[in-house]
Amino acid sequence: MELIEKKSEKIQFTIEASSTLLNSIRRYINQIPVSAIDELEISKNDSPLYDETIAHRVGLIPIKNSAKEGEKVKLEVKKEGIVYSEDLKGNIEVAYKKIPITLLDKNQELAFTGILKKNKGTKHSKFSPGLMFYRDVFEVKIDKNCPKEVISFCPKNILKLKDGKIIVEEDFKCDFCESCTDYCKKNGKEGIEIIPTKNLLVTIESFGQMNPSEIFQKAIETLKKDLSEFSKTLKK
Ligand code: SF4
Repeated sequence: MELIEKKSEKIQFTIEASSTLLNSIRRYINQIPVSAIDELEISKNDSPLYDETIAHRVGLIPIKNSAKEGEKVKLEVKKEGIVYSEDLKGNIEVAYKKIPITLLDKNQELAFTGILKKNKGTKHSKFSPGLMFYRDVFEVKIDKNCPKEVISFCPKNILKLKDGKIIVEEDFKCDFCESCTDYCKKNGKEGIEIIPTKNLLVTIESFGQMNPSEIFQKAIETLKKDLSEFSKTLKK
């Protein structure tokens, strides 16, 4: 396993694993209990948006998953301008403060209360913590007779010229677009070979409720728990 990139909202790594296993983990991301605002009671809405649209937008605001289920969330705004996610009050932390909810004109008001609930992404996408995707990692093999001009045909810019030789930098970026092999073939040369490896490049992107490493760990834990219960049921 090799870490390629780690940010607060994204993690990328290579791993030798079967795509079947990774696909099960990917599907289990939507089985992790995640917080979102539910059951909105709107007492005042002078904004141009319908109550249903406000409720939908508020539900999709990512809330840090450390918040307790059942927490009350309030919003009472009377101002000219944009109402943002940071205007929500309660014992919660929004992942991003500047998510627009709606726009108010002079003397217009928006007021509601909501309840924080935990549920799964399979129930509604507002309970989904993020995305995971993966693809094969390839080895790029360069022949000594490979034409040097080929480096300008790589859209990922990973083919470089060093001391008169073509080298490959960050080969995990190769997505098998075949632009280089096509160029060589058109020029009558077999200069580059793209070989699939046993590794997969995995990317996990968080919507903000929890960090991407936690998403990966929780998805594995939830999958393991379900498999163990399934196994117990089979033994009965
Ligand atoms: S297959 Fe595409 S991405 Fe990979 S080295 Fe060739 S041109 Fe670059």
